Amino acid sequence: MSIDLNEQSTIVSQDDLAFDAKHIWHSYTSVTHPPPIFPVASASGVRLTLTDGRELVDGMSSWWSTIHGYNHPELNAAIEKQTQSMAHVMFGGLTHKPAIELAKKLVAMTPEALTTVFFADSGSVSVEVAIKMAIQYWRSLGNTRKKRLLTVRNGYHGDTLGAMAVCDPVNGMHSLFRGVLLEHVFVEAPQCRYGDVWEERYLDEFSSAIREHHEDLVGVILEPVVQGVGGMRFYSPEYLRRVEELCKAFGVLLLLDEIATGFGRTGTLFACEQAGVTPDIMCLGKALTGGYMTLAVTLCTDEVSHTISDNGVFMHGPTFMANPLACSVAGVSLDILNRGEWRQQVKGIEAALSEELQPLVELSCVADVRVLGAIGVVEMKEPVDMKTVQPMFVEEGIWVRPFGRLVYVMPPYIMSRDDLAFLGQGIRNVVERL
Ligand SMILES: *Cc1c(COP(=O)(O)O)cnc(C)c1O
Repeated sequence: MSIDLNEQSTIVSQDDLAFDAKHIWHSYTSVTHPPPIFPVASASGVRLTLTDGRELVDGMSSWWSTIHGYNHPELNAAIEKQTQSMAHVMFGGLTHKPAIELAKKLVAMTPEALTTVFFADSGSVSVEVAIKMAIQYWRSLGNTRKKRLLTVRNGYHGDTLGAMAVCDPVNGMHSLFRGVLLEHVFVEAPQCRYGDVWEERYLDEFSSAIREHHEDLVGVILEPVVQGVGGMRFYSPEYLRRVEELCKAFGVLLLLDEIATGFGRTGTLFACEQAGVTPDIMCLGKALTGGYMTLAVTLCTDEVSHTISDNGVFMHGPTFMANPLACSVAGVSLDILNRGEWRQQVKGIEAALSEELQPLVELSCVADVRVLGAIGVVEMKEPVDMKTVQPMFVEEGIWVRPFGRLVYVMPPYIMSRDDLAFLGQGIRNVVERL
Protein backbone atom coordinates (compact mmCIF):
# COMPACT_ATOMS: atom_id res chain seq x y z
CA MET A 1 0.00 0.00 0.00
CA SER A 2 1.42 3.39 -0.90
CA ILE A 3 0.96 6.40 1.33
CA ASP A 4 -0.57 9.52 -0.12
CA LEU A 5 1.57 12.34 1.27
CA ASN A 6 -1.27 14.81 0.80
CA GLU A 7 -3.31 12.77 3.25
CA GLN A 8 -0.80 13.56 5.98
CA SER A 9 -2.08 17.06 6.47
CA THR A 10 0.27 19.60 7.99
CA ILE A 11 -2.69 21.71 9.13
CA VAL A 12 -2.79 22.00 12.91
CA SER A 13 -6.40 22.53 14.03
CA GLN A 14 -7.59 24.30 17.17
CA ASP A 15 -8.34 20.85 18.60
CA ASP A 16 -4.78 19.76 17.90
CA LEU A 17 -3.45 22.83 19.67
CA ALA A 18 -5.73 22.22 22.65
CA PHE A 19 -4.45 18.63 22.82
CA ASP A 20 -0.85 19.82 22.54
CA ALA A 21 -1.29 22.34 25.36
CA LYS A 22 -2.86 19.76 27.64
CA HIS A 23 -0.88 16.63 26.90
CA ILE A 24 2.54 17.50 25.50
CA TRP A 25 5.46 18.75 27.49
CA HIS A 26 7.54 21.14 25.36
CA SER A 27 11.04 22.29 26.31
CA TYR A 28 11.02 23.77 29.82
CA THR A 29 7.23 24.21 30.11
CA SER A 30 4.29 23.75 32.42
CA VAL A 31 1.33 21.72 31.09
CA THR A 32 -1.04 23.61 33.33
CA HIS A 33 0.26 27.05 32.30
CA PRO A 34 1.39 26.42 28.74
CA PRO A 35 3.20 29.25 26.95
CA PRO A 36 2.22 30.49 23.46
CA ILE A 37 3.13 27.95 20.82
CA PHE A 38 3.43 28.26 17.05
CA PRO A 39 2.63 25.34 14.72
CA VAL A 40 5.11 24.93 11.87
CA ALA A 41 4.09 23.39 8.55
CA SER A 42 7.49 23.33 6.86
CA ALA A 43 10.95 24.82 6.82
CA SER A 44 13.23 25.61 3.91
CA GLY A 45 16.47 27.56 3.63
CA VAL A 46 16.41 30.08 6.48
CA ARG A 47 12.60 30.21 6.74
CA LEU A 48 10.02 28.49 8.89
CA THR A 49 6.49 28.47 7.45
CA LEU A 50 3.75 28.44 10.08
CA THR A 51 0.53 26.55 9.36
CA ASP A 52 -1.32 29.86 8.91
CA GLY A 53 1.05 30.66 6.04
CA ARG A 54 3.24 33.21 7.85
CA GLU A 55 6.96 32.93 7.16
CA LEU A 56 9.59 33.53 9.84
CA VAL A 57 13.27 34.21 9.20
CA ASP A 58 15.02 31.86 11.61
CA GLY A 59 17.57 33.46 13.92
CA MET A 60 18.04 30.36 16.09
CA SER A 61 19.18 27.63 13.65
CA SER A 62 16.93 25.41 15.76
CA TRP A 63 19.28 25.82 18.71
CA TRP A 64 22.61 26.07 16.86
CA SER A 65 22.04 23.05 14.66
CA THR A 66 20.73 23.87 11.15
CA ILE A 67 23.92 25.54 9.92
CA HIS A 68 23.27 24.80 6.22
CA GLY A 69 19.58 25.73 6.42
CA TYR A 70 16.44 23.62 6.28
CA ASN A 71 15.39 21.23 3.52
CA HIS A 72 18.89 21.08 2.08
CA PRO A 73 18.95 18.97 -1.11
CA GLU A 74 22.24 17.19 -0.33
CA LEU A 75 21.26 16.43 3.25
CA ASN A 76 17.81 15.23 2.16
CA ALA A 77 19.45 12.96 -0.40
CA ALA A 78 21.83 11.51 2.21
CA ILE A 79 18.93 10.36 4.38
CA GLU A 80 16.87 9.11 1.44
CA LYS A 81 19.79 7.11 0.09
CA GLN A 82 20.63 5.62 3.47
CA THR A 83 17.04 4.41 3.99
CA GLN A 84 17.51 2.20 0.90
CA SER A 85 20.16 0.10 2.66
CA MET A 86 19.31 0.35 6.37
CA ALA A 87 17.73 2.82 8.74
CA HIS A 88 19.26 1.26 11.82
CA VAL A 89 21.22 -1.66 13.20
CA MET A 90 22.60 -2.11 16.69
CA PHE A 91 26.24 -1.08 17.20
CA GLY A 92 27.16 -3.86 19.61
CA GLY A 93 29.06 -6.42 17.54
CA LEU A 94 28.11 -4.76 14.23
CA THR A 95 29.56 -1.85 12.30
CA HIS A 96 28.76 0.01 9.07
CA LYS A 97 30.14 2.36 6.47
CA PRO A 98 28.26 5.55 7.56
CA ALA A 99 29.76 5.31 11.07
CA ILE A 100 33.26 4.53 9.79
CA GLU A 101 33.19 7.33 7.22
CA LEU A 102 31.91 9.83 9.78
CA ALA A 103 34.52 8.82 12.35
CA LYS A 104 37.29 9.21 9.74
CA LYS A 105 36.13 12.74 8.95
CA LEU A 106 35.85 13.68 12.64
CA VAL A 107 39.31 12.36 13.47
CA ALA A 108 40.72 14.30 10.50
CA MET A 109 38.95 17.60 11.33
CA THR A 110 39.47 17.78 15.08
CA PRO A 111 42.78 18.44 16.87
CA GLU A 112 45.33 15.77 15.98
CA ALA A 113 45.57 14.08 19.37
CA LEU A 114 41.84 13.23 19.36
CA THR A 115 41.81 9.77 17.86
CA THR A 116 38.95 7.77 19.34
CA VAL A 117 35.26 8.43 18.66
CA PHE A 118 32.31 7.45 20.84
CA PHE A 119 28.89 7.95 19.21
CA ALA A 120 26.27 9.31 21.61
CA ASP A 121 22.59 10.14 21.11
CA SER A 122 22.51 13.78 22.15
CA GLY A 123 24.74 16.51 23.51
CA SER A 124 23.83 15.81 27.12
CA VAL A 125 24.64 12.14 26.67
CA SER A 126 27.99 13.00 25.11
CA VAL A 127 28.76 15.06 28.23
CA GLU A 128 27.76 12.13 30.45
CA VAL A 129 30.05 9.92 28.36
CA ALA A 130 32.90 12.44 28.66
CA ILE A 131 32.54 12.53 32.45
CA LYS A 132 32.40 8.72 32.64
CA MET A 133 35.53 8.51 30.45
CA ALA A 134 37.37 10.84 32.81
CA ILE A 135 36.29 8.81 35.85
CA GLN A 136 37.13 5.45 34.24
CA TYR A 137 40.51 6.82 33.12
CA TRP A 138 41.57 7.51 36.71
CA ARG A 139 40.05 4.28 38.04
CA SER A 140 42.01 2.37 35.39
CA LEU A 141 45.15 3.94 36.84
CA GLY A 142 44.11 2.76 40.30
CA ASN A 143 43.06 6.21 41.52
CA THR A 144 39.65 6.07 43.20
CA ARG A 145 40.04 9.26 45.19
CA LYS A 146 39.38 11.49 42.18
CA LYS A 147 35.64 11.98 41.69
CA ARG A 148 34.92 15.65 41.11
CA LEU A 149 35.12 18.13 38.27
CA LEU A 150 36.27 21.73 38.32
CA THR A 151 34.34 24.19 36.19
CA VAL A 152 33.32 27.84 35.90
CA ARG A 153 30.05 29.62 36.63
CA ASN A 154 27.72 30.53 33.76
CA GLY A 155 28.38 27.22 32.03
CA TYR A 156 25.84 25.05 30.26
CA HIS A 157 26.46 21.37 29.52
CA GLY A 158 23.01 19.80 29.18
CA ASP A 159 19.97 18.64 31.10
CA THR A 160 20.76 15.11 32.30
CA LEU A 161 21.81 14.64 35.93
CA GLY A 162 25.56 14.45 35.38
CA ALA A 163 25.59 17.36 32.94
CA MET A 164 23.25 19.50 35.09
CA ALA A 165 25.67 19.20 37.97
CA VAL A 166 28.32 21.13 36.02
CA CYS A 167 25.90 23.82 34.71
CA ASP A 168 25.77 27.24 36.36
CA PRO A 169 24.70 26.64 39.96
CA VAL A 170 22.50 29.76 40.02
CA ASN A 171 20.79 30.02 36.63
CA GLY A 172 20.95 26.23 36.15
CA MET A 173 18.90 23.68 38.06
CA HIS A 174 21.01 23.26 41.18
CA SER A 175 18.52 24.69 43.65
CA LEU A 176 15.68 22.59 42.21
CA PHE A 177 17.76 19.42 42.44
CA ARG A 178 19.71 20.15 45.61
CA GLY A 179 20.80 16.99 47.36
CA VAL A 180 20.58 14.97 44.15
CA LEU A 181 23.36 16.50 42.06
CA LEU A 182 27.01 15.75 42.63
CA GLU A 183 28.79 18.76 44.11
CA HIS A 184 31.58 19.88 41.86
CA VAL A 185 34.06 22.71 42.31
CA PHE A 186 32.99 26.04 40.79
CA VAL A 187 35.02 29.19 40.26
CA GLU A 188 33.92 32.53 38.83
CA ALA A 189 33.23 32.68 35.09
CA PRO A 190 36.21 33.83 33.02
CA GLN A 191 36.42 37.60 33.54
CA CYS A 192 38.72 38.45 30.64
CA ARG A 193 36.36 39.25 27.80
CA TYR A 194 37.11 38.21 24.26
CA GLY A 195 39.48 40.79 22.78
CA ASP A 196 40.52 42.25 26.14
CA VAL A 197 44.16 42.41 27.16
CA TRP A 198 45.10 39.46 29.34
CA GLU A 199 46.12 40.04 32.93
CA GLU A 200 47.40 37.36 35.29
CA ARG A 201 44.78 38.17 37.93
CA TYR A 202 42.12 36.69 35.65
CA LEU A 203 43.49 33.26 36.49
CA ASP A 204 43.80 33.69 40.26
CA GLU A 205 40.61 31.98 41.38
CA PHE A 206 40.97 29.12 38.93
CA SER A 207 44.58 28.47 39.79
CA SER A 208 43.90 28.47 43.55
CA ALA A 209 41.03 26.05 43.05
CA ILE A 210 43.02 23.58 40.98
CA ARG A 211 45.93 23.82 43.42
CA GLU A 212 43.62 23.12 46.35
CA HIS A 213 41.46 20.38 44.81
CA HIS A 214 43.55 18.63 42.15
CA GLU A 215 43.86 15.41 44.12
CA ASP A 216 40.07 15.09 44.05
CA LEU A 217 39.59 16.18 40.44
CA VAL A 218 39.10 13.84 37.49
CA GLY A 219 39.00 16.81 35.18
CA VAL A 220 38.14 20.37 34.28
CA ILE A 221 35.13 20.87 32.02
CA LEU A 222 34.58 24.07 30.03
CA GLU A 223 32.85 25.45 26.97
CA PRO A 224 35.77 26.91 25.02
CA VAL A 225 35.72 30.69 24.31
CA VAL A 226 31.91 31.00 24.19
CA GLN A 227 29.72 30.13 27.14
CA GLY A 228 26.31 29.31 25.67
CA VAL A 229 22.91 29.67 27.30
CA GLY A 230 24.44 29.86 30.77
CA GLY A 231 25.27 33.48 29.94
CA MET A 232 26.24 33.87 26.24
CA ARG A 233 29.64 35.16 27.37
CA PHE A 234 32.67 35.38 25.08
CA TYR A 235 35.99 35.07 26.91
CA SER A 236 39.65 35.37 26.03
CA PRO A 237 41.25 32.29 24.43
CA GLU A 238 44.24 33.10 26.66
CA TYR A 239 42.16 31.88 29.64
CA LEU A 240 41.77 28.53 27.94
CA ARG A 241 45.49 28.34 27.20
CA ARG A 242 46.30 28.95 30.86
CA VAL A 243 43.72 26.39 31.99
CA GLU A 244 45.33 23.79 29.72
CA GLU A 245 48.75 24.54 31.24
CA LEU A 246 47.40 24.18 34.77
CA CYS A 247 45.60 20.93 33.91
CA LYS A 248 48.86 19.50 32.60
CA ALA A 249 50.83 20.78 35.60
CA PHE A 250 48.40 19.27 38.11
CA GLY A 251 47.55 16.03 36.29
CA VAL A 252 43.90 16.81 35.66
CA LEU A 253 42.11 15.96 32.39
CA LEU A 254 40.72 18.78 30.23
CA LEU A 255 37.21 18.19 28.89
CA LEU A 256 35.98 20.68 26.30
CA ASP A 257 32.30 20.92 25.42
CA GLU A 258 32.17 22.16 21.79
CA ILE A 259 28.53 21.16 21.35
CA ALA A 260 27.46 24.76 20.65
CA THR A 261 30.76 26.19 19.37
CA GLY A 262 31.82 23.33 17.10
CA PHE A 263 31.66 23.34 13.29
CA GLY A 264 32.50 26.95 12.59
CA ARG A 265 30.08 28.93 14.75
CA THR A 266 32.76 31.11 16.38
CA GLY A 267 34.74 31.72 13.17
CA THR A 268 37.14 28.78 13.52
CA LEU A 269 36.12 25.19 12.88
CA PHE A 270 36.39 24.52 16.63
CA ALA A 271 36.66 27.22 19.28
CA CYS A 272 39.63 25.50 20.97
CA GLU A 273 41.67 26.28 17.82
CA GLN A 274 41.56 29.96 18.80
CA ALA A 275 43.63 29.07 21.84
CA GLY A 276 45.70 26.34 20.18
CA VAL A 277 44.45 24.00 22.90
CA THR A 278 43.84 20.27 22.52
CA PRO A 279 41.57 18.72 25.14
CA ASP A 280 41.87 15.16 26.40
CA ILE A 281 38.15 14.68 25.78
CA MET A 282 35.87 16.71 23.49
CA CYS A 283 32.08 16.73 23.04
CA LEU A 284 30.41 17.58 19.73
CA GLY A 285 26.71 17.65 18.87
CA LYS A 286 24.12 20.20 17.75
CA ALA A 287 25.37 21.11 14.21
CA LEU A 288 26.95 17.67 13.66
CA THR A 289 24.10 16.44 11.43
CA GLY A 290 23.33 19.90 10.03
CA GLY A 291 20.32 19.85 12.35
CA TYR A 292 18.69 16.85 10.70
CA MET A 293 18.80 14.22 13.41
CA THR A 294 19.94 13.83 16.97
CA LEU A 295 23.56 12.68 17.12
CA ALA A 296 26.58 13.66 19.19
CA VAL A 297 30.07 12.32 19.72
CA THR A 298 32.68 12.24 22.44
CA LEU A 299 36.25 12.15 21.13
CA CYS A 300 39.29 11.36 23.22
CA THR A 301 43.04 10.84 22.98
CA ASP A 302 44.84 7.49 22.76
CA GLU A 303 46.05 8.12 26.30
CA VAL A 304 42.45 8.13 27.57
CA SER A 305 41.04 5.37 25.35
CA HIS A 306 44.03 3.02 25.74
CA THR A 307 44.31 3.48 29.50
CA ILE A 308 40.64 2.57 29.91
CA SER A 309 40.83 -0.24 27.34
CA ASP A 310 44.01 -1.86 28.66
CA ASN A 311 42.23 -2.35 31.96
CA GLY A 312 38.76 -3.34 30.80
CA VAL A 313 35.98 -1.90 28.68
CA PHE A 314 34.32 1.49 28.46
CA MET A 315 30.91 1.04 30.03
CA HIS A 316 28.45 2.84 27.78
CA GLY A 317 26.44 1.71 24.74
CA PRO A 318 23.15 3.34 23.79
CA THR A 319 20.51 1.42 21.80
CA PHE A 320 20.62 3.87 18.92
CA MET A 321 24.39 4.30 18.99
CA ALA A 322 25.79 5.43 15.60
CA ASN A 323 22.37 5.35 13.92
CA PRO A 324 23.15 4.97 10.18
CA LEU A 325 20.66 7.65 9.05
CA ALA A 326 22.17 10.15 11.46
CA CYS A 327 25.76 9.16 10.59
CA SER A 328 25.16 9.43 6.86
CA VAL A 329 23.57 12.88 7.05
CA ALA A 330 26.34 14.02 9.41
CA GLY A 331 28.94 12.79 6.92
CA VAL A 332 27.41 14.92 4.17
CA SER A 333 27.06 17.92 6.50
CA LEU A 334 30.80 17.68 7.19
CA ASP A 335 31.49 17.41 3.43
CA ILE A 336 29.62 20.69 2.94
CA LEU A 337 31.70 22.27 5.72
CA ASN A 338 34.91 20.90 4.25
CA ARG A 339 34.17 22.77 1.01
CA GLY A 340 35.01 25.82 3.13
CA GLU A 341 32.32 28.37 2.19
CA TRP A 342 31.35 28.60 5.86
CA ARG A 343 34.43 30.73 6.57
CA GLN A 344 33.23 33.63 4.41
CA GLN A 345 29.62 33.09 5.46
CA VAL A 346 30.43 33.28 9.17
CA LYS A 347 32.64 36.37 8.63
CA GLY A 348 29.79 38.02 6.72
CA ILE A 349 27.29 37.23 9.47
CA GLU A 350 29.69 38.60 12.09
CA ALA A 351 29.98 41.90 10.21
CA ALA A 352 26.24 42.10 9.55
CA LEU A 353 25.17 41.28 13.11
CA SER A 354 27.61 43.87 14.49
CA GLU A 355 26.12 46.51 12.21
CA GLU A 356 22.52 45.50 12.91
CA LEU A 357 22.69 45.00 16.68
CA GLN A 358 25.33 47.49 17.88
CA PRO A 359 22.94 50.51 17.79
CA LEU A 360 20.87 48.84 20.54
CA VAL A 361 23.62 49.47 23.07
CA GLU A 362 22.32 53.07 23.29
CA LEU A 363 19.02 51.93 24.82
CA SER A 364 18.62 52.22 28.58
CA CYS A 365 17.16 48.71 28.86
CA VAL A 366 20.21 47.15 27.15
CA ALA A 367 23.25 46.18 29.23
CA ASP A 368 25.54 44.99 26.44
CA VAL A 369 25.69 44.02 22.78
CA ARG A 370 28.32 41.55 21.57
CA VAL A 371 29.00 39.58 18.42
CA LEU A 372 31.47 36.77 17.76
CA GLY A 373 31.44 34.68 14.60
CA ALA A 374 27.84 33.88 13.71
CA ILE A 375 26.57 34.64 17.22
CA GLY A 376 24.89 37.92 18.19
CA VAL A 377 23.82 38.76 21.74
CA VAL A 378 21.77 41.61 23.14
CA GLU A 379 22.02 41.38 26.92
CA MET A 380 19.15 43.19 28.64
CA LYS A 381 19.30 44.71 32.12
CA GLU A 382 16.16 42.83 33.19
CA PRO A 383 14.93 39.34 32.28
CA VAL A 384 12.51 39.40 29.35
CA ASP A 385 9.09 37.79 29.69
CA MET A 386 9.12 35.10 27.04
CA LYS A 387 5.33 34.78 26.99
CA THR A 388 4.91 38.37 25.80
CA VAL A 389 8.13 38.75 23.82
CA GLN A 390 7.94 35.58 21.75
CA PRO A 391 4.73 36.63 19.93
CA MET A 392 6.26 40.09 19.31
CA PHE A 393 9.15 38.50 17.39
CA VAL A 394 6.68 36.38 15.41
CA GLU A 395 4.73 39.56 14.53
CA GLU A 396 7.99 40.92 13.12
CA GLY A 397 8.35 37.82 10.95
CA ILE A 398 11.41 36.46 12.74
CA TRP A 399 12.08 33.48 15.00
CA VAL A 400 14.09 34.53 18.05
CA ARG A 401 13.77 32.82 21.41
CA PRO A 402 15.22 34.82 24.29
CA PHE A 403 16.30 33.26 27.57
CA GLY A 404 16.51 35.18 30.83
CA ARG A 405 18.19 38.53 30.09
CA LEU A 406 19.54 37.30 26.77
CA VAL A 407 18.13 38.06 23.34
CA TYR A 408 20.48 36.15 21.06
CA VAL A 409 20.72 34.82 17.54
CA MET A 410 22.91 32.32 15.74
CA PRO A 411 21.55 32.22 12.18
CA PRO A 412 22.11 29.47 9.61
CA TYR A 413 25.42 30.15 7.80
CA ILE A 414 23.59 30.51 4.47
CA MET A 415 21.56 33.55 5.57
CA SER A 416 21.76 36.40 3.03
CA ARG A 417 22.68 39.99 3.92
CA ASP A 418 19.07 41.05 3.19
CA ASP A 419 17.66 38.43 5.55
CA LEU A 420 20.21 39.42 8.21
CA ALA A 421 19.03 43.03 7.84
CA PHE A 422 15.42 41.89 8.21
CA LEU A 423 16.34 39.85 11.30
CA GLY A 424 18.24 42.84 12.75
CA GLN A 425 15.36 45.23 12.07
CA GLY A 426 12.90 42.86 13.74
CA ILE A 427 15.10 42.51 16.83
CA ARG A 428 15.53 46.31 17.03
CA ASN A 429 11.78 46.86 16.71
CA VAL A 430 11.05 44.48 19.57
CA VAL A 431 13.89 45.50 21.90
CA GLU A 432 13.06 49.21 21.45
CA ARG A 433 9.56 48.51 22.78
CA LEU A 434 10.77 46.70 25.93
C1 LIG B 1 22.95 22.17 23.89
C2 LIG B 1 24.17 21.92 24.65
C3 LIG B 1 24.34 20.72 25.37
C4 LIG B 1 23.27 19.67 25.44
O1 LIG B 1 22.97 19.10 24.20
P1 LIG B 1 21.56 18.36 23.99
O2 LIG B 1 21.66 17.80 22.59
O3 LIG B 1 20.49 19.41 24.12
O4 LIG B 1 21.44 17.31 25.02
C5 LIG B 1 25.52 20.54 26.04
N1 LIG B 1 26.50 21.48 26.02
C6 LIG B 1 26.37 22.62 25.33
C7 LIG B 1 27.50 23.61 25.32
C8 LIG B 1 25.20 22.89 24.63
O5 LIG B 1 25.06 24.05 23.98
